[in-house]
Amino acid sequence: MTDPTPAGEPPVCSSRGCRAPAAWALRWNNPRLHEPERRKTWLACPAHRGSLGDFLDARGFLRDVTALPGSHTLEA
Ligand SMILES: [Zn+2]
Repeated sequence: MTDPTPAGEPPVCSSRGCRAPAAWALRWNNPRLHEPERRKTWLACPAHRGSLGDFLDARGFLRDVTALPGSHTLEA
């Protein structure tokens, strides 16, 4: 049983060791590794949206942050 996202289950935060439901999608691109149009996506819970965003932003990788549809934690 290795399906990481069973149907109906909320997506989980990408931060290491965190199992909280994700509320944000951080879209990023590493110009050294990826085509300019390519976007990688990290998912973040409200607690890790800042730290994951800062990690990407400090490296100049962060392109876009969007709230996940269906999130119940949209209040900032
Ligand atoms: Zn988290």
